[in-house]
Amino acid sequence: MALMGQMMAMPLLISSLIQHAARHSGDTEIVSKRVEGDLHRYTWRDAELRSRKVAQALARFGLEAGDRVATLAWNGYRHLEIYYGASGSQLVCHTINPRLFPEQVAWIANDAQDKVLCFDASFLPLVEKLVSHMPGIKHYVLMTDRAHMPAQTSIPGLLCYEELVEAEDGQYVWPSFDENTASSICYTSGTTGHPKGAVYSHRSSVLHAYGSALPDAMDCSSKDVVLPVVPMFHVNAWGLPYSAAIVGCKLVFPGPHLDGKSLYELFENEGVTFSAGVPTVWLGLLNYVGQNKLKFSTFKRTVIGGSACPPAMLRTLMDDYGVEVIHAWGMTELSPLGTLSKLTAKQLELPVEEQRRILEKQGKVIYGIDMAVIDDEGKPLPWDGASAGNLVVRGSWVIDSYFQQPASPLVEVAGMGTWFPTGDVATIDADGFMQITDRSKDVIKSGGEWISSIDLENIAMAHPGVHEAAAISCAHPKWDERPLLVVVRKPGVELTREEMLAFYEGRIAKWQIPDDVVFVDEIPHTATGKIQKLKLREQFKSHRLPG
Ligand code: ADP
Repeated sequence: MALMGQMMAMPLLISSLIQHAARHSGDTEIVSKRVEGDLHRYTWRDAELRSRKVAQALARFGLEAGDRVATLAWNGYRHLEIYYGASGSQLVCHTINPRLFPEQVAWIANDAQDKVLCFDASFLPLVEKLVSHMPGIKHYVLMTDRAHMPAQTSIPGLLCYEELVEAEDGQYVWPSFDENTASSICYTSGTTGHPKGAVYSHRSSVLHAYGSALPDAMDCSSKDVVLPVVPMFHVNAWGLPYSAAIVGCKLVFPGPHLDGKSLYELFENEGVTFSAGVPTVWLGLLNYVGQNKLKFSTFKRTVIGGSACPPAMLRTLMDDYGVEVIHAWGMTELSPLGTLSKLTAKQLELPVEEQRRILEKQGKVIYGIDMAVIDDEGKPLPWDGASAGNLVVRGSWVIDSYFQQPASPLVEVAGMGTWFPTGDVATIDADGFMQITDRSKDVIKSGGEWISSIDLENIAMAHPGVHEAAAISCAHPKWDERPLLVVVRKPGVELTREEMLAFYEGRIAKWQIPDDVVFVDEIPHTATGKIQKLKLREQFKSHRLPG
């Protein structure tokens, strides 16, 4: 009989993260730019006390363990308190993305059976519109103080967050319970079909926080000043509210102020060293610093993920601003981090150009995640950096099933058990660096060959006149599909179709060069800041390719 370990089985609970931060980094600041535009400062010690008060206030609503507390809120200290107060008291924090269509917000709140909705003042009109469509929500809490409460509202019994918190004494002991209890829910954006809920557990969230803070992952330490640009409604801000507590670093929350100027000022004034966000937010920030000939004085590194980081952006940040770019891949179903691109000791000896090409990849898995690429028959493909196949993953913070969906999303891999199919197409090289070639639904299938839309976009983004570019498939009588490039020019730039196409010469195989270029004022983005390929394909459905 196996000899069992004789160690304490202390459950991995989210409340332990903030307790640790309060005890060991109690004086470290959390700074928030509020919806009102002013700055709020307090410490991890204050945050933990107020999170306990939030837990007490929620308990007065007569909720039961497992009940969902929803939020519609920007990155800020009150949102952080709800993260900890709800999850820590065995309720489930359900962050809703306010950028979704209003009907989707209501659909998600109903699907999750939310009982409480806490929201920022900027979403008052949205919530007023939706109240009659969310009958399950019994308590509405406006995340503000008495002075900022509306004189009139159609929301029945609207409560004031600060009043609820101030009424409590904080004499609350975080309860201990099974670490596999649900801590939070995030819905996928549902680009196809209805959104689906990923239900994270305390255990999965704590393990994700541990793993993602490691030096070869996000490399967080107590000396960092972390500004998560990625919203707390987008997969828990990539776990940063949790990993920041583990290391006890200063946190800076930008609220709704995500334009280049506001971000830059916050970075400089608060001494931000580390940030994380999707490529589109860096476009705005880089435009602002570029136009105003500014430099960053403390900003050292950033995680970029959520969609492919264009190599041109990576180079600008590294070469012009001295900011290390950590390209990362993940998804809602992975809490979200799967891989990050950090050079190994061996790779650091390579010429800089080769290093750059490695950094452009989505990187290596964090311990805790396993990955493989498989062919259409479910057989594993070699790790040779060339064989592209369907990317599958498994691990301690990968979903097993979706909220209230009986059908399992998992697939069998020949001889290797069950895995989660990501819907991405990728290669893995001999060093274990994964590179996404495309989302399977975005691949351009030309005459039986695949063209990577990411490759085409990366080249376009390297042109100095291009602000943003998207490559989509367009129906073609002979080749089934051919690439069409949709471009937003930088302001005041003259760039023709011919110049754009000529830029591809020598940078990619001739047959992969787009057949046509269209210039638009704006490219549509999803609620999480990614290019909406589905909408673009719809928009250009009847576009006639030349020739
Ligand atoms: P959704 O976009 O559906 O809301 P997620 O935010 O979970 O869902 O996005 C996950 C998807 O985003 C991945 O499956 C992948 O297609 C894409 N993605 C994430 N990071 C990267 C990256 N670094 N490079 C390319 N694609 C990425």
